[in-house]
Amino acid sequence: EGFLPFEHEPYFNFRDEATVQAQRAAFQQVREQYVGRTFPLIVNGQPAQGSGTFEVRNPADTREVVWQFQNATPEQLQQAVQAAQRAFEDWRFSDPFQRASIFKRAAELLRARRLELNAVMTLENGKNWPEADGEVAESVDHFEVFAREALRWAQGKPVYPMPDEHVTTVYEPLGVVACISPWNFPSAIPLGMALGAIAAGNTVIWKPARETPLSSYLMVELLFEAGLPRGVIQFLTGTDDVLGDPLVDHPGVRMIAFTGSKEIGCRIYERAAKVQPGQRWLKRVMAEMGGKDPTVVCADGDLDAAAQGIVQAAFGYAGQKCSACSRVIVEESVHDALLEKVTALARQLKVGLPEDNADLGPVIHTGSAQRIMGFVERGQQSARLVLGGEVPDMGERQGGYVAPTIFADVPPSDPLFQEEIFGPVLAFTKARDWQHAIELANDSEYGLTAAFYSRDPRKIEEARRRIHVGNLYINRKCTGALSGTHAFGGYGMSGTNAKVGGPDYLFWFLQTKTIAQRY
Ligand code: NAP
Repeated sequence: EGFLPFEHEPYFNFRDEATVQAQRAAFQQVREQYVGRTFPLIVNGQPAQGSGTFEVRNPADTREVVWQFQNATPEQLQQAVQAAQRAFEDWRFSDPFQRASIFKRAAELLRARRLELNAVMTLENGKNWPEADGEVAESVDHFEVFAREALRWAQGKPVYPMPDEHVTTVYEPLGVVACISPWNFPSAIPLGMALGAIAAGNTVIWKPARETPLSSYLMVELLFEAGLPRGVIQFLTGTDDVLGDPLVDHPGVRMIAFTGSKEIGCRIYERAAKVQPGQRWLKRVMAEMGGKDPTVVCADGDLDAAAQGIVQAAFGYAGQKCSACSRVIVEESVHDALLEKVTALARQLKVGLPEDNADLGPVIHTGSAQRIMGFVERGQQSARLVLGGEVPDMGERQGGYVAPTIFADVPPSDPLFQEEIFGPVLAFTKARDWQHAIELANDSEYGLTAAFYSRDPRKIEEARRRIHVGNLYINRKCTGALSGTHAFGGYGMSGTNAKVGGPDYLFWFLQTKTIAQRY
């Protein structure tokens, strides 16, 4: 397919002193270059002011305003959709090699700026260094993967032949795709959705989460710098009353690509079903939503490996990943031993400033911290609190800090077992045996990721067949999907199972034309 073999972008080694110095320097550079600045919308290729601005605050200490973004107006939403429709008329016929070479160039540009992007993300959403680095590296992978996918899908697919007709199946883009994204992966998630759309020849309204617009804005700029025609992405920030329902309902939008909460995903799915006056298609909706991801540990599993995997998956980025491990389901006979190992590791985690690369930073808002503490308080009536459960003292700092928290003896009917908490709270539940453990793992409306630890091929075979999730990991943690390899997306109420980074992802952004020709 015209490219060298693919390799995942390697992570930085933050144990290396020179790399540490370079990352610190990047924070300083970002503070000098960006803090205090106000960033524009991008409509019809031009920077634009909105009706006012909003502040983005550092979640590690919300007294600090880092940068400001625009509140787009309803008129600007109209202009953006129209501009995206106009740009579509050219971009739909663009050469897939052109699309691919733009993505390859963007990958090169991003590689040179990874530490800067890490620092921006840390200041917006409180990721520590390796968490931010993992996401920025994933963004590089997305550019590389989607370059290849653009070429692959341009080839069409063979059909069974006819003696007297020449028949081809080709894929064509849809139109304007609204990409609506969450704050927890502010560069890789919107980028994955937007590249899927653009690689297929669509144009994009890029609507980042309010908490994290700069990590998105810099990706958009990078694409323009790499040669993407400026009408292909319209970048809009602002309030939900202008960019929520009105964007979803807009008759000029052909598809909505959404990643975020179950609540908003379901709302979009429902609203998009209504055909608006002037609308000439049934809207397509991709909605990737939450998780309540289990780790199952069998009595014969490697308990040390399991404990490590659980602690990384449960407390990395303070548990604010859709893929985070929030339930441990363990066979009775090894329950106490595993709980002890997990608790010992979790106890070592230091809560502190993400900018100083603390193990555990703040959650995104003080409001989220209160919501999480509500689960913790109610949980103490139905389960046994083993670790944490308190708000650590951070001195002067204002932020939503929550200590790593573990509950044991959590009944399967409990909110701690069923609801997505999206914080550093882990629930342990005992299973009678490994089959019961699989049943409990499946006792959830969600089905995003799961991990399964065992050395027994028979149990592993059964887990592969029966665990009802989109991403199942055997003898490894349930976070850390890599673009191009671990196609990502869940079952059940985790969403539409679009599988970003997978071999079928572009199909979501395409329609299929059959052409039969006689001579
Ligand atoms: P959220 O509250 O659902 O917000 C997601 C996006 O939707 C934001 O850009 C938000 O804008 C926008 N939005 C709000 N109201 C809207 C409306 N009425 N119509 C259209 N868009 C609207 O989710 P979040 O708190 O940012 O993210 C956390 C959630 O995302 C968790 O549930 C997590 O599991 C899930 N998630 C899933 C995946 C996956 O791949 N399955 C990946 C990451 C995260 P504002 O920011 O302006 O409100």
